Amino acid sequence: MYRKLLLASALLMLAPAAFAAGNCSVDLEGNDQMRFNLSSITVPSSCQQFTINLKHVGTMAKTVMGHNVIVAKTSDMRGIETDGIRAGLAADYVKAGDTRVVVHSRVIGGGETASVTFPVAKITSGGPYSFFCSFPGHAALMKGTITVQ
Ligand code: ZN
Repeated sequence: MYRKLLLASALLMLAPAAFAAGNCSVDLEGNDQMRFNLSSITVPSSCQQFTINLKHVGTMAKTVMGHNVIVAKTSDMRGIETDGIRAGLAADYVKAGDTRVVVHSRVIGGGETASVTFPVAKITSGGPYSFFCSFPGHAALMKGTITVQ
């Protein structure tokens, strides 16, 4: 647990330095009330890569109130969620090799963090795109739009 936190902190410190050009990252919080603090994310078109820094600001365990973040076409959300629930927590509620998924983080519990980075080119066409949590039942509330501008 302590080692995991250290690693997450190290990653968080690296991220701003690696993507210092422009604002190519966002801090996204999930809480014990099954909510994200953002309902939309805007990705500057000047970014080559974009990073989402997910933080679980609650205290509940990932087995009962776990959160992840997935980026995908809005029209694919339901299918990804259904297959993810079948895959289970050990697979971070994402079907192995799901090509509909642009990027996904692992599932984290209270106090943990997880960062994911993806090429912006992956969401510039074929949208609209969304971000959401695929923990069973969470996507109904934990979702938002992600657009490149
Ligand atoms: Zn969640």
